[in-house]
Amino acid sequence: ALPILAVIGRPNVGKSTLVNRILGKRLAVVEDKPGVTRDRVLYPAEWSGTDFMLMDTGGWEAKVTGLDLSVAQQAEVAVEMADAVMFVVDSKVGPTASDEKVVRLLRRSGKPVVLAANKVDGPQGELEAASLWSLGLGEPYPVSALHGRGTGDLLDAAIAVL
Ligand code: GDP
Ligand code: MG
Repeated sequence: ALPILAVIGRPNVGKSTLVNRILGKRLAVVEDKPGVTRDRVLYPAEWSGTDFMLMDTGGWEAKVTGLDLSVAQQAEVAVEMADAVMFVVDSKVGPTASDEKVVRLLRRSGKPVVLAANKVDGPQGELEAASLWSLGLGEPYPVSALHGRGTGDLLDAAIAVL
């Protein structure tokens, strides 16, 4: 079976947009309102000669348990299934309490993680992206899933740990 790279993060940070960018086609559903992605969807993907399965995640809002808890629960299932994790944070918002919760879960899992600082649409966003070093997950890769900026470096880092 191919290794699984799971794309996780809070609703609306741009996971599905990033998945489509990586696939080079629009298969994952992108919405302005959060919560349109089903819990987990797997797509065959390839980068730099490495074949893998890319897992989009979402669908958290339907849970009645409250956003933070369900984000962590969904992340837990995805991380368990994954060989490596792409953790997406909205650099315009910065790390939230719910992000911190997922970071603890990622640490416990011992799975390799690459940190995507999304929505860095131009050079002015680099500073916000750099502030995500504070999460303690290593280098934040500044990307714009919308425009494609930085996604090559992010993918290089991801397949290196896959
Ligand atoms: P998900 O809930 O994490 O899967 O997020 P989506 O991919 O559905 O995107 C949520 C919203 O963020 C949509 O309106 C996207 O167009 C927008 N978005 C995603 N990536 C970027 C980005 O790099 N820059 C900007 N400015 N908006 C983005
Ligand atoms: Mg989505």
